[in-house]
Amino acid sequence: MNSKKSVAIDGPSGAGKSTIARRVSEEFGFIYVDTGAIYRTVGLAAALRKLDPKDKAAVVAMLPEISIRLAYGEDGLQHMYLDGEDVTSRIRTPEISLYASGVSAHPEVRAYLMEMQRSLARENDVVMDGRDIGTVVLPDAGLKIFLTASPEARARRRYSELVAKGQDVQYEDVLRDLTVRDENDSTRAAAPLKAAEDALLLDTTEMDFEESCRAVAEMIRERFCL
Ligand code: C5P
Repeated sequence: MNSKKSVAIDGPSGAGKSTIARRVSEEFGFIYVDTGAIYRTVGLAAALRKLDPKDKAAVVAMLPEISIRLAYGEDGLQHMYLDGEDVTSRIRTPEISLYASGVSAHPEVRAYLMEMQRSLARENDVVMDGRDIGTVVLPDAGLKIFLTASPEARARRRYSELVAKGQDVQYEDVLRDLTVRDENDSTRAAAPLKAAEDALLLDTTEMDFEESCRAVAEMIRERFCL
């Protein structure tokens, strides 16, 4: 039996999963696993090979040729390596978001990444965020949260994040990309984005970051008697 504690946080793009998950994982001394970064790394590999991410045969043929590794740096942050190169920053562009969304629709890609995600939860107390953590990756997670917010609120937050990183983006483009990804992620046959039946719902449209973190921390404290 797994004695480790797992918190699964799922929800659509831009709901604030990663920033909230990172903060609460620090608060409770759990490690934070950003599974979107893992899919982004596969997306980057496809982009570098100029593959169409929807071309399943090409993407599946690429998998045995690439090496993907996840490691925690001295800064405590999750770093992603593709073929030995640290690609942690390179995967954070709107182009790679769409590649990630494309490649993640293939069941073979999801299966290829499953063990990496499960082993992290077997060996550590984790806060893991993604789209299918509570439904597929960690169906026995001690706590499942489905985090959401209106598309406009999510696009506004994502836009501010990208601008803060110095990227030259337009709000309308961010909203459009997010809507496309929502559609891809919720309608795909393999592990579509949906709340697990036993997930607690949290809508952060009207909440700021601190309020959202407090709400999630409260759920963790209550569930694990911390
Ligand atoms: O979370 P993030 O926006 O970085 O994820 C990038 C893409 O990776 C998502 O749009 C989704 O298609 C895919 N993804 C997934 N399953 C996960 C995490 C991310 O399919 N558990």
